Amino acid sequence: MSRLDIKSQDQAQIVVESLYEDMERRVAASHPGLCPVDTAAAFLRLSHGQSCGKCTPCRVGLEQLENLIDDVLDGGKDVTKDTIGLIRTTAESIRDSADCAIGFEAANMVLKGLDGFLEDYISHVEKGVCASNIREYSEAIPCVGLCPARVDIPGYVSLVLEGRYKDAVKLIKKDNPFPIACALVCEHPCENRCRRTMIDAPINIRGLKRFAVDNSGKVEPPPKAESTGKKIAVIGGGPSGLTAAYYLSLMGHKVKVFEKRKFLGGMLRYGIPSYRLPRERLQEEIDIILSLGVDVELETDISKAEEVKKLKKDYDAVYIAVGAHAFQSLGIKGEDSRGVLSAVEMLRAIGDGNMISLEGKTVSVIGGGNVAMDVARTARRLGAKEVNILYRRRRSDMTALNEEIEGAIAEGCEVVELKAPSRIETDKDGNVKAIWVKPQIPGELDKSGRPRPCDSKGSEERYESDFVISAIGQKIEAGTFDKLGIATDRGRVSADEACIVSKLKGVFAGGDCVTGPATAIRSIAAGKTAAANIDEYLGYNHEISVDVEVPHAKQGNRPPMGRIQMRERPSASRRKDFEEIEEGMTLEEAMQEASRCLRCDHFGMGSFKGGREQKW
Ligand SMILES: Cc1cc2nc3c(=O)[nH]c(=O)nc-3n(C[C@H](O)[C@H](O)[C@H](O)COP(=O)(O)OP(=O)(O)OC[C@H]3O[C@@H](n4cnc5c(N)ncnc54)[C@H](O)[C@@H]3O)c2cc1C
Ligand code: SF4
Ligand code: SF4
Repeated sequence: MSRLDIKSQDQAQIVVESLYEDMERRVAASHPGLCPVDTAAAFLRLSHGQSCGKCTPCRVGLEQLENLIDDVLDGGKDVTKDTIGLIRTTAESIRDSADCAIGFEAANMVLKGLDGFLEDYISHVEKGVCASNIREYSEAIPCVGLCPARVDIPGYVSLVLEGRYKDAVKLIKKDNPFPIACALVCEHPCENRCRRTMIDAPINIRGLKRFAVDNSGKVEPPPKAESTGKKIAVIGGGPSGLTAAYYLSLMGHKVKVFEKRKFLGGMLRYGIPSYRLPRERLQEEIDIILSLGVDVELETDISKAEEVKKLKKDYDAVYIAVGAHAFQSLGIKGEDSRGVLSAVEMLRAIGDGNMISLEGKTVSVIGGGNVAMDVARTARRLGAKEVNILYRRRRSDMTALNEEIEGAIAEGCEVVELKAPSRIETDKDGNVKAIWVKPQIPGELDKSGRPRPCDSKGSEERYESDFVISAIGQKIEAGTFDKLGIATDRGRVSADEACIVSKLKGVFAGGDCVTGPATAIRSIAAGKTAAANIDEYLGYNHEISVDVEVPHAKQGNRPPMGRIQMRERPSASRRKDFEEIEEGMTLEEAMQEASRCLRCDHFGMGSFKGGREQKW
């Protein structure tokens, strides 16, 4: 026998590894309505299975915790709120005394669940079921539940599979009047928990929407309801304001949109670059909304309290959807030098058709979100010879979508992680010469779950730059609303989930100005919610419906297969122009992708209870 040998994976180990992968995919596909108490019990059992058993808190304590949580799940007369107290003290004592991460992290996870879902623990003790908010979620299909506008995804995917593209778009428009914009730029939260992940990978839902809009031809809006004679003013012609205008017009109300800029579209036009969302496609969608008879007053800035007061007097209701267009300052020396721009300023100028030239310049972009990637990639297209994206955290902590970061790198931008801007150096005329940064190290996790950037105490570093563009976030211009008595919270308009502004009858607000910078589909969902609640406030109960029959779900073989990704133009050619970079799917690709959908609207516990939502 040899003294040493090389261990190779045996069959059992290979099978166990593949089971871990299956488990990972299953966890990734857990839909948002799972019972949090049951989930905690399942994770606890898994952790207990990993325990080496050497320390008592882990070996004995975790089993005790499991039993207590099982008691809560099983109910019974001995289970009271004290049981929940006992779960907490047991978990705290395991957390504080277990020898290794298996024990203390398992206990931590239970404590986090207790803090986040106390209401559900209590509801289990008192009523034997989860709290109602979780029950509502659990009735949703994973993809539909996570699309903020609750678009009927299995419905339109099955229509695409049947080649009924116009019907697919009609169905989408019941909940979202911007199918083209969303097909091109939606961040597709609907894919995050797609149940198909359990088999192979989530369905490319956005890609199938794109195939539908690319092949549907023009889809006219449904007929409008009889005129109600009511008038509604919408302040802000972005996706949220225009969505509200679309549905309110369908309900028979007369809508007028007041927009500060030269064109409608908000950040879809003045933020998102045209290589991702071509302006003519955006305009196509806006024109359909306007065809319902929506009045528009462009270049009208409603920024004085008296102006809003007048609208309130002249109209039956007002919807505020002004977005978040004021930029956050970097707060460093030299920030007001010539050559320092905000992402908002730069993209706004381009949205108005005023391209700036960065020919042969070196540009530093500060930030790690999608906006930073957009300005960096735009700078390359405007001729910059070098673009550095300086970020104070690690690349893996960036909030930008991975595909956006990859896209920027492929187009020649460099991502420089763990650098916090410290000052801007200028020449004697006040023009930017360089940005100085302090190297950072990733520290303890902060509230966002990412390591906090901490000064590494290393020497300052210099990045030569002709332009510094800050993309570290936007806020609203809140002054007007403060003066009107509309509460603002951390620079945002305060409105509840029904978009109602408290204490001001007939005033509603939604979109980025309420949530802070978010996404197109969230602002569209707010516009839809506002339309429903304004209609109700005016004393009506109009229904928005669609006359599209969704194909029956069929049983079928669902072998694992690859997810179809959308192709992009090669980086060498696309970085020189503003032409669209993404290419849609071919017919074969779309059919294969649509056929992967598991039709969770029919099969599985997520099926639509009481039938699908054909109207709202
Ligand atoms: C660079 C960038 C890239 C983005 N990329 C994506 C993406 O890929 N996917 C995605 O889903 N989302 C993306 N977003 C976010 C998305 O565009 C916004 O969340 C969305 O547009 C917000 O819609 P909204 O209607 O609430 O506000 P906005 O789109 O900001 O519209 C508000 C409108 O109100 C007008 N207005 C403001 N003040 C007044 C006033 N006083 N009087 C009259 N009119 C006024 C503004 O001019 C504007 O037209 C991006 C944003 C930016 C900045
Ligand atoms: S709008 Fe966005 S979130 Fe909703 S279904 Fe389409 S891609 Fe998904
Ligand atoms: S398989 Fe289809 S219905 Fe199920 S979550 Fe995914 S897209 Fe939705």
